[in-house]
Amino acid sequence: MASRTPGLIALFDVDGTLTAPRKAITPEMSKFMQELREVVTVGIVGGSDLIKISEQLGSTVISDYDFVFSENGLVAHKEGKLTSVQSLKSFLGEEKLKELINFTLHYIADLDIPIKRGTFIEFRNGMLNVSPIGRNCSQEERDEFEKYDKIHNIRPKLVSVLREKFAHLNLTFSIGGQISFDVFPQGWDKTYCLRYLDEFNEIHFFGDKTYKGGNDYEIYESERTIGHTVTSPEDTMKQCKALFMGKSYNGDS
Ligand SMILES: [Mg+2]
Repeated sequence: MASRTPGLIALFDVDGTLTAPRKAITPEMSKFMQELREVVTVGIVGGSDLIKISEQLGSTVISDYDFVFSENGLVAHKEGKLTSVQSLKSFLGEEKLKELINFTLHYIADLDIPIKRGTFIEFRNGMLNVSPIGRNCSQEERDEFEKYDKIHNIRPKLVSVLREKFAHLNLTFSIGGQISFDVFPQGWDKTYCLRYLDEFNEIHFFGDKTYKGGNDYEIYESERTIGHTVTSPEDTMKQCKALFMGKSYNGDS
């Protein structure tokens, strides 16, 4: 790896950037990423957990890349070794977490909506996922809730109450999908992984959702990175060849 540019790293989003949405990486792309590693240090940063990322990038993912940041870097691997783990539980502590969960469950209990099912709060490593109808509703019930929420703003109202009540915890609330929203500490987006990259002075980031509200937006906009928007894995490959491999690259596409 002697020919690698010192201080430079190419950092990639996973879904939509190295793979087609929710698909596995192609053998061609996988081979290309290893070729790229001969000229630059390569890291990946995905919002999913390591299990999900392994399903998309292969079971040897942690040794295939120089840095692997799953859950936006809450779980960090460098050169195949686990270097750091962070969780909502250890960050907030049991008391604050309980206060937040109790308040949210009380609010949902008092909420008069057409139907309720089960699993109103799903506790994940780096976030709480809150659903007023309950996550184990059927697809039909999901569709109905989504329509109801558009008219009655159930989720936006709950978010604004939580935002005010728990302002001191500096949380971010992200409404996505049909029935729920995510709650996590401010800064626990993809910029979280940048704290492990102090040794690099030139960080190129590639992502497909770099627009405001997209999950690559913060790291793309960060002053620490040079952001690149890609439209597909093929586009990622094309841009990397031009940026890092110049004319010396003899690839076939
Ligand atoms: Mg993506």
